[in-house]
Amino acid sequence: MTENARTSLATGGCQCGALRYALYGAPSHDAVCHCRMCQKALGAPFGVFLSVATDDFAWTRGAPETFRSSSHAERDFCGVCGTPLTFRWYDGRHVSVLVPTLDEPERFPPSRQIGVESRLSWVADICSLPARTTAEDSGADFVAACVSYQHPDHETPDDWTPTPQEPGKPEKPAKPEKPAKPERDA
Ligand SMILES: [Zn+2]
Ligand SMILES: [Zn+2]
Repeated sequence: MTENARTSLATGGCQCGALRYALYGAPSHDAVCHCRMCQKALGAPFGVFLSVATDDFAWTRGAPETFRSSSHAERDFCGVCGTPLTFRWYDGRHVSVLVPTLDEPERFPPSRQIGVESRLSWVADICSLPARTTAEDSGADFVAACVSYQHPDHETPDDWTPTPQEPGKPEKPAKPEKPAKPERDA
């Protein structure tokens, strides 16, 4: 049976759409991981993972790049856009996917924390900080004018390509011209 013929429980992928994956079985466990290795691998204060049996995970578009981050595990990411997507122990029994890369991350709230020896001291207060929506922060016009080049949060045909970047995208400001050398009197 091909992967696409199986009914997926959930789907996800990278921001550029080169990689897509599907889960075919219920998660066996989940975690917010605060460990220092996840912080560096994800460029984030913590990772949120859920794990499925290896047989219940499949790449449905593209193949990832892999970084062996320790003697215990490997991490897969998109070689085109860099999005981190999975964490795999060498025991090969489970694949952990990063919950925010799922198309519907709201469906999978975490139930425990691990790696708390490295938890950043300010993490607990994040949700108490002053808070604004994107429109409140950047303006409704900015939000309305923003064209996303990311893959949408649902399955797309294999020939899906991102919206081409507009020719009118902001250019780097031109370097100021060097002032002409002052001419010396001969
Ligand atoms: Zn990508
Ligand atoms: Zn970790």
